[in-house]
Amino acid sequence: MNEKPKQSSKIWTDLDIDAPGKQTGFLWLPLAVHDRSGDDAGYNCEPIPIATIRNGEGPSVLLMAGNHGNEYEGQVILMKLIRALNVEDVRGRLIILPAANAPAVRADRRNSPLDDGNLNRQFPGDPNGGPTSMIAHFIESVILPRVDYVVDLHSGSRNVEYLPCAVIARPPDPGQLEEALTRLRVFGMPTGMIIEHSTGGDGALIGACRRQGVKHLSTELGGGGDVNRAALELAEHGLARLLHHVGATKRPLSDRAAPECHFVARVLSRDYIYADSSERGLFEPLVGLNDRVAAGQVVGRIHFTTTPWRDPEPVVAKTDGIVLTRWLPARTGRGDCVFALGRDWSPSRTV
Ligand SMILES: [Zn+2]
Repeated sequence: MNEKPKQSSKIWTDLDIDAPGKQTGFLWLPLAVHDRSGDDAGYNCEPIPIATIRNGEGPSVLLMAGNHGNEYEGQVILMKLIRALNVEDVRGRLIILPAANAPAVRADRRNSPLDDGNLNRQFPGDPNGGPTSMIAHFIESVILPRVDYVVDLHSGSRNVEYLPCAVIARPPDPGQLEEALTRLRVFGMPTGMIIEHSTGGDGALIGACRRQGVKHLSTELGGGGDVNRAALELAEHGLARLLHHVGATKRPLSDRAAPECHFVARVLSRDYIYADSSERGLFEPLVGLNDRVAAGQVVGRIHFTTTPWRDPEPVVAKTDGIVLTRWLPARTGRGDCVFALGRDWSPSRTV
């Protein structure tokens, strides 16, 4: 075999991520490595905050938020957790990245302002690539080999509100499905989503976890550039239950029982509900998150502000489903996905 030697990351850290105890500090991303930082960064570095807590034998867990910079609930949850957890609370180790794509977090953007990189499409990354690709490479080549589990906290984006849910990808090995579903039940969001086909493919963190043999769980918690208080609270308790379930905390950090979890999968994206009006207008939704819609149902109307007397154009569902997301901006036109749909999921049924 003529395998190329693996190149090591140019990102460095002044803490020893394998050391026992609780440490906080930064990963330093040198912007001079590649001329893709968008501006004259000289020898500057981008600091990416990291916390590690290690206490004896036990599982290793990566907790991540800020994969997309403008998804806020998970960032708040992990900042609170870093401050709350003591070394004695932990068994094994936690590695916490509350602002994984730090430039995107700093700019309140989904993607990095340095290279427009979407971290969740850049795995396995490149140590000599742009800043976002360097972060992906560091996570996949330095952190994932050290951990058994990843919890990656997402929300809807600035323009999309998501039905709060926890998410797993269907494991490639059918023997691992029940264990993954148990993690979903323990995390205990009222809705648990099973991803049959990842939108981001191999470039997503889900793909990186599959390559590295790491068990993955993520969330979608509200969104819309907001901090959804109810979703944040559900996920905070869910994360505490999950950490104890996998053996990563010595005592349960939540005394709240997991609510019943209803399993859903997304329908094919071509069956989502799209506006199809050539003139952009104001969208009046007639259904909301978690509502069930039927094929042929009018789920909204587009009203035309230039000709207010004109009849509004109906937006119609093509398939039965459960409303998982809604597009937030009122001004809507052809191609805007006003509602993404899911369906009830059971292990025997596939898309
Ligand atoms: Zn996201």
